[in-house]
Amino acid sequence: MKRILVTGGAGFIGSHLCRLLLERGDDVLCLDNFFTGQKRNILPLLGHPCFELVRHDLVEPILLEVDQIYNLACPASPIHYQLNPVKTVKTNVMGTINMLGLAKRVKARILQASTSEVYGDPREHPQRESYWGHVNPIGLRSCYDEGKRLAETLMMDYHRQNGVDIRIVRIFNTYGPHMHVDDGRVVSNFIVQALRNQPLTIYGDGTQTRSFCYVTDLLDGLVRLMDNETGCIGPVNMGNPDEFTIRELAEKIIALTGSPSPLVHEDLPADDPVRRRPDITLARQTLGWEPKVPLEEGLRHTIGYFRELLAGQGEI
Ligand code: NAD
Ligand code: UDP
Repeated sequence: MKRILVTGGAGFIGSHLCRLLLERGDDVLCLDNFFTGQKRNILPLLGHPCFELVRHDLVEPILLEVDQIYNLACPASPIHYQLNPVKTVKTNVMGTINMLGLAKRVKARILQASTSEVYGDPREHPQRESYWGHVNPIGLRSCYDEGKRLAETLMMDYHRQNGVDIRIVRIFNTYGPHMHVDDGRVVSNFIVQALRNQPLTIYGDGTQTRSFCYVTDLLDGLVRLMDNETGCIGPVNMGNPDEFTIRELAEKIIALTGSPSPLVHEDLPADDPVRRRPDITLARQTLGWEPKVPLEEGLRHTIGYFRELLAGQGEI
């Protein structure tokens, strides 16, 4: 049994990870400031004898005795990370320094949840880990993109300078149950809009692409990378290489929900990447990992989750 800290553990990915680790028999410490996290996500875990919840802001130092740290704390949706951009930078920089300091002190292994956003609006397609990216340092997305890039820098420098045992994963668009109803990211937005019979808001002309990974596939990858002993520290891309336009995604969700909602177009946000698809050769070769859940199957599970949630709130 390991003692594992999951920062951002009440969020979308973090809450699934906490459950998986508990099921595996680990002792789980969930740290969250509930900025975008929700009690509902971890409610079923609260009575578990090996689960502990700490309400804490990662920007402040904390001392805990743990063997592994999954550093997931950071708002991931563009509308949320842009609400308080300075705080987003602080979470990524000061928060990561705090976690690296803790890892150094207690000799814990630390995994950093990085992002495909480190590639910015990429000029190479698909994106390989060797690509350095094309990022606007002064735009609206920079607090997140540059924050995550600096977090990677810190990870590598603590590793080289202090011998901290690190892992870096670059997560591409991941979706599933436990996303916030008002999360603002495209999959949850479209599903919630379709279930409420509201228009689906396509930003721009809908020809921009993304590759969508179902959350269970990502969790499998995170745990494989964390527990890997072959010397692979990353960065490693994790995502589903199947690429879809945003219009295709909207049409699929309309078909799967049977919704009468129309598609409407709104302005494209600044610096919105045009194309995104991970090259996952490294994860395949070093971790034997690849996603298994096709988009339609993952969407069905996610639609089922939101249908139950909205029905429970008397909205549909
Ligand atoms: P999320 O917003 O659902 O979860 C983030 C969690 O971090 C929330 O529970 C939030 O309350 C918590 N948090 C934020 N700032 C904090 C702070 N200062 N102190 C303590 N807790 C704080 O997002 P998610 O989709 O679950 O993303 C988890 C991680 O994965 C993030 O680091 C994100 O950048 C990364 N990621 C996610 C995706 C994706 O598609 N879901 C893609 C790339 C990277
Ligand atoms: N998007 C959209 N409608 C929405 C939300 C998002 O068309 O209601 C688009 C957004 O402009 C982007 C893509 O969907 O091109 C993915 O957006 P998301 O916020 O999910 O993640 P990103 O990959 O941009 O961080």
